[in-house]
Amino acid sequence: EPASPHRPMRVVLAAPRGFCAGVRRAIDAVSDAIERHGPPVYVRRAIVHNLAVVRELEAKGAIFVQEVDEVPAGAVLILSAHGVSRSIANDAEDGGRRVIDATCPLVAKVHREVVRHHRDGRHVILIGHADHPEIEGTLGQLPGDAASVISTQGDVAALTFPAETRVAFAVQTTFSVEEAAGIADALKTRFADLAGPNGSDICYATSNRQAALRAIVPQVDAIVVVGESFSSNANRLVEVAAAQGCASVQLVAGPEDLDWSAFQAAASIGVTAAASTPESSVTAVLQSLRDRFALLVEEVGSPIESIYFRPVQVA
Ligand code: SF4
Repeated sequence: EPASPHRPMRVVLAAPRGFCAGVRRAIDAVSDAIERHGPPVYVRRAIVHNLAVVRELEAKGAIFVQEVDEVPAGAVLILSAHGVSRSIANDAEDGGRRVIDATCPLVAKVHREVVRHHRDGRHVILIGHADHPEIEGTLGQLPGDAASVISTQGDVAALTFPAETRVAFAVQTTFSVEEAAGIADALKTRFADLAGPNGSDICYATSNRQAALRAIVPQVDAIVVVGESFSSNANRLVEVAAAQGCASVQLVAGPEDLDWSAFQAAASIGVTAAASTPESSVTAVLQSLRDRFALLVEEVGSPIESIYFRPVQVA
C-alpha cells in the first residue's frame, strides 16, 4: 500500500551523481554523427550502459548492433565508450566503414598503460570484471597470454606465477576504490617487482560518485541507486552503500522498479545515479516519491566537476 501522501520524507541527493564527461561525450558523438551523416548510424553495443539513452538515440536514427559484421559496408559505425579490442577495431574498418571511436579517453589511457607494461616485459594483471566490455577491450590490446584478470583479494592468492615474476597491474575505470586498494596491496605483498598506476586507473567520475554516496549514507535510512543492473559503476555504488552500513539499498532503472516496502519505516532516502544514468531518470524517481510522500529534497556534496574532454571528431 502506498504511504499517505502527507507523510514527510527527507530526500538527500548525492552530488556529483549521473553523467560523467566520458558518457556525455559518447552520447554526443552519436547525435553529432547522425546530424553530420544522416541516419542511420550504427553503434556497436550499448553506447553507454543505459537503456533510456539507447532508446532516445534509436529514436534519432541510431541502430544498435552486437557485432561489427552486422554493419553494412560503407556505413557509419560508432564504437562505444567502454572501448574495444584491437581485433574488433580492425574488423570495424573492413568494408570501407566509417568508424567513429567514442572510447572514453580515460579508458584509452588504460589501454596505453597496459601496452607499455607489456612492452616492458611485464605480465599484466587487470583488476576488473572479466565479463565487462571494458575489460574485454583492455585485454584485447595484448596478445592472449599477456594478461590475467582478477577481481578479489582471493584471486591474488590463486595466481600461480612465481613471486619474482615481473608484473604490472591496471584497474577497470569503474571498479570499487576501496576494493581495488585492497587488491593492489595484496599484489604488492605477493610480487617483489610490481608496476602500477601512480594513483589509480579508477576514473575521477567513479571515485567522486562513490565518495559522494559514502558521505550521505550515515544521514539516511535507505539508499536508491538509479542505474541499470548491467552497469558496472551502478553495481559498485550499491556495494559502497552496503559496505558503509546502509541496511536498505536498491538499484532501480526508473520509478517502476522501486520497492516501496523498503520505505515503510524510513524517514529519509538517499538518492544517487550511475555515470551512465540520465538526470531525467532521477527526476522520474523523485516525481514518483513525490506522489507518495511530502518530499523535502536537499543536495549534499558538490556537483562541480571540472573534467572536460574534446568532442569526438565525427566528420
Ligand atoms: Fe570515462 Fe569514467 Fe565516465 Fe567511464 S565512468 S566513461 S571511464 S569518465
